[in-house]
Amino acid sequence: MQKAGNKKEMKYVLVTGGVVSGLGKGVTASSIGLLLQACDLRVTSIKIDPYLNTDAGTMSPFEHGEVFVLDDGGEVDLDLGNYERFLDIKLTRDNNITTGKIYQSVIDKERKGDYLGKTVQVVPHITDAIQDWIERVAAIPVDGKEGSPDVCVIELGGTIGDIESMPFIEALGQFSYRVGAGNFCLIHVSLVPVLNVVGEPKTKPTQHSVRGLRSLGLIPNILACRSTMELDINVKEKLSRFCHVPLENIVSLYDVPNIWHIPSLLRDQKAHEAILKALNLFSVVRKPALDPWIDMALRCDKLHEPVRVAMVGKYTCLSDAYLSVLKALLHASVACRRKLVINWVSATDLETATALESPEINRAAWNSLKSADAVVVPGGFGDRGVEGKIIAAKYARENKIPYLGICLGMQIAVIEYARSVLGLKNTNSTEFDPNNKNPCVIFMPEGSKTHMGGTMRLGSRRTYFQVADCKSAQLYGNQTFIDERHRHRYEVNPDMVPQLEKAGLSFTGKDETGQRMEIVELHSHPYYVGAQFHPEFKTRPGKPSALFLGLIAAASGQLDVLLKKSVGTKANVYSPLKSGLSPHRYGNVKVKVNVKSGSFDGMYCKKNNGLHV
Ligand code: GLN
Repeated sequence: MQKAGNKKEMKYVLVTGGVVSGLGKGVTASSIGLLLQACDLRVTSIKIDPYLNTDAGTMSPFEHGEVFVLDDGGEVDLDLGNYERFLDIKLTRDNNITTGKIYQSVIDKERKGDYLGKTVQVVPHITDAIQDWIERVAAIPVDGKEGSPDVCVIELGGTIGDIESMPFIEALGQFSYRVGAGNFCLIHVSLVPVLNVVGEPKTKPTQHSVRGLRSLGLIPNILACRSTMELDINVKEKLSRFCHVPLENIVSLYDVPNIWHIPSLLRDQKAHEAILKALNLFSVVRKPALDPWIDMALRCDKLHEPVRVAMVGKYTCLSDAYLSVLKALLHASVACRRKLVINWVSATDLETATALESPEINRAAWNSLKSADAVVVPGGFGDRGVEGKIIAAKYARENKIPYLGICLGMQIAVIEYARSVLGLKNTNSTEFDPNNKNPCVIFMPEGSKTHMGGTMRLGSRRTYFQVADCKSAQLYGNQTFIDERHRHRYEVNPDMVPQLEKAGLSFTGKDETGQRMEIVELHSHPYYVGAQFHPEFKTRPGKPSALFLGLIAAASGQLDVLLKKSVGTKANVYSPLKSGLSPHRYGNVKVKVNVKSGSFDGMYCKKNNGLHV
């Protein structure tokens, strides 16, 4: 990897998709990254989304799945979550390239006069901007170590032939030439459908897709063929002949019980050898060490004792809308040796209006909620289903069912408590009732009501524990503070906190000013926890996020044992007065963002109760 003059040459693996979207390209690309990491290479990744939005922040989870949030506050495509989880890395907002970002940067330069006298065009100005962006971002270390990574996996969103991706295809063709042979490897993920009638795998769609790729100047090194069953040698030979790809570079990616099997599926077919040869790295790295992943994948297959979690939300027909929450629940369930079962509950179905109009729907929703071992109210925006979520929080609190409220779910728990216990029947969040006379959740002083994109409290912020022996502090290993990712505009009204605390609701985590409530707990309940942050964005397979682990442990009768394990070291309780920061208003306190610092499972796995595991 060392060039003359000692400059390390970056290696690039481009992953494109063919035939149809939703093939699990993101998971494939993440698994390729993991396989290379297992060969002792330092891997980073870039996701290209050829839409015009600057970022994913303003997009509906209905259309694109969840908005993933990074440490630096970047609101990005959910595939970046796959990369972070699979590779255990921390990416930056620039690792997600969109058409909007590229055009914005070129137009900004044009306005500054950087192209003075020239006609600014897609080729070369947009295509150069794309290449420069990739080269700059690939060099950013993402694994906490110094120096640039060895390999950058670039995933091009969409399918070959899409009009939107044309400038990117042209740029990537030029880029493969720019970085030179031996530094660029193209993997085309395509579909080989198996027709039910004859049970025969069809290669024609892949042939067409590869022809399209070649006509655009991109030559695939490896074909990764998605199919329901393993492709036999005849099919591979046919693909090799028609697509001009060596037989040993055709990989059959068939359906597996869970996505953690994919890295070993790639390894068993020697995909790493093909990639390493294309990148001139074959002789310099070790054989892939994947044992922990294989163990985890097999352990997950064997789980049978269920833990049922009711997800009370708005987008219950689209599991991708809550992808990281599902991953966090899955990681926690595997750690507790339980098979995760999700009971999807559409919040509006729990409401009185539904009970009157469609009693069966209401009854079914209640049955689903009541048969669960735990309740999660995830993040959300807008007033639809809010009253239903409040009903679910009340049910969990009164019946001592483990509850985890995330961001909106925490605000819901506070509204419910203020209404039921403080007797403030009409209190609400000003998000849902802007003229509320006595709101318990209010708009943040520094928020913007006129601009929706990137104006929330976003990214990694610090939470200080206020009570040493509370469940959340113990679950986080009795640390003084934690850094978690945020995405919100509203927060608990600090003026109402003394009243709520007096009534038994404990704010066990606060920001450095002591004015912003970060974690809420009910000590008298087996597990009733809310977090203003989104702990799901930092969960990892084998390293489940603390509050999710607590929830699943509580739901499966293991919380006491878990908490006993973490007792011993007492948390240092933080005092805002000691820190020298003003304990009063926080609007003008500069909050330092910590920037130092693994989607769509596609059709890889059969759906299990709406959840791809
Ligand atoms: N809508 C709420 C807010 O803006 C909660 C946001 C969320 O759940 N991510 O504060």
